[in-house]
Amino acid sequence: MLVVNAEIDGRSGLDLRCGDGVLVEVGHGLQANGDELVIDARGGAVIAGLHDHHLHLLALAAARNSVACGPGDTPDAESMRRALVAAPVARDARGWIRAVGYHEAVAGQLTRELLDGMMADRPLRVQHRGGAAWVFNSAACRMLKLDAADHVGIERDSKGHATGRLFRGDQWLRGQLGAGAAPDLSQVGAELASVGVTGVTDATPSNGADEAALFGRALADGGLPLRLTLMGSFELGDHGSMVDGVETGAVKLVLDERALPAIDELVADMGRAHDSGRAVAVHCVTRVELFLALAAFEQAGAVPGDRLEHASVCPDEAVQLARGLGLAVVTQPGFVRSRGDAYLREVERSDHPLLYRCRGFVDGGVRLGAGTDAPFGDADPWLAMQAAVDRQTSGGRGLGIDESLTPEQALELFTGWPHNPGGPPRRLAAGEPADLVVLDRKWSRARDELSSSMVRTTVTRGRVSFARN
Ligand SMILES: [Zn+2]
Repeated sequence: MLVVNAEIDGRSGLDLRCGDGVLVEVGHGLQANGDELVIDARGGAVIAGLHDHHLHLLALAAARNSVACGPGDTPDAESMRRALVAAPVARDARGWIRAVGYHEAVAGQLTRELLDGMMADRPLRVQHRGGAAWVFNSAACRMLKLDAADHVGIERDSKGHATGRLFRGDQWLRGQLGAGAAPDLSQVGAELASVGVTGVTDATPSNGADEAALFGRALADGGLPLRLTLMGSFELGDHGSMVDGVETGAVKLVLDERALPAIDELVADMGRAHDSGRAVAVHCVTRVELFLALAAFEQAGAVPGDRLEHASVCPDEAVQLARGLGLAVVTQPGFVRSRGDAYLREVERSDHPLLYRCRGFVDGGVRLGAGTDAPFGDADPWLAMQAAVDRQTSGGRGLGIDESLTPEQALELFTGWPHNPGGPPRRLAAGEPADLVVLDRKWSRARDELSSSMVRTTVTRGRVSFARN
């Protein structure tokens, strides 16, 4: 395939020849060979394909079959009830209604009784926006035998009855629901290609051999036109090893302020990951979680590829520690836009400048990459890039304006290599991966408003994965 008349890094009139997954030639005046497919970029910018450094593919596929009940979807209890009642039964599970994105701004703290008032006849499960908690109605509690079930995350009242809330119990829940039909990933694959994403790192902590095999099949049958790096459990193979096109990434360790491990335990897990040749990615959203992660890295020693996921509240001292340890940070600027108004209401004012920082890391010498955290954030990385530049909430207020990046820096959040987020961006040159995005305008105009509507063509592994119209 030949892409002609492209603007690359500000240079016009360039052509790119894609071979089998690799860029073969980049230069002026390349001629098409025989039946080679020719794509005319019409002078538009051609950039490296975007890599989303942190998302959750299976949850994203499930979310596309779920009722969205965040404050932006269903502003109050009555609209949430109506949306639930109107929902078609998800294809993935017998009679269940699955709702996602819930936040207390809709109807307060959810209980099984409250959900019974919205839906009594069908089993209903509602996932909290952060992804760490599910709430069930009584029909669902009965199906799951929640009163008698044994899982540390099942919340109980003083009489020992399940309240309907389950914390960090996704794996247990999957076991209870049984392995339904494997979710169809092709819709998600097409959606990501349409916004210029050519690679992702799936950051789901429970990823193991089953998930790797499932993703491998989706890559092989073309349903998932992506380069895929899989973070996850210790069960996955060596760092950087490739099975069925799925590359093994870091061991994902999740910290939860409500149930923190002893530091020795955390240090031991880090050592175990490093010993098996894998880097470590630590989920830390609160200040306490962040400092525990940093202290553990200090004891365990950090290796290239080690990273902090989110670092949502990050004081300067932590930036310096992360720099000293050589840790990368993978942030979610998209939350500034989608959750910023709630942060401004709920988070202590003195912490506002520390939320989802960008420039503070870059200026502080910390490699900074970004992910969308879809489905917990919007899957469109351009929304995240624009938020990294303008730091505007969806309600039009500024959050951490001093943390603003240039459009070029914002783009680089998503163009680093999978194993080195925030490191040198991938370049479009001979020998590099044939993963690229053709925009419908020059970069000098594209940078004014970063939007996925500018994506005209996406090429993944040398093949067109998306073409507008
Ligand atoms: Zn995540």
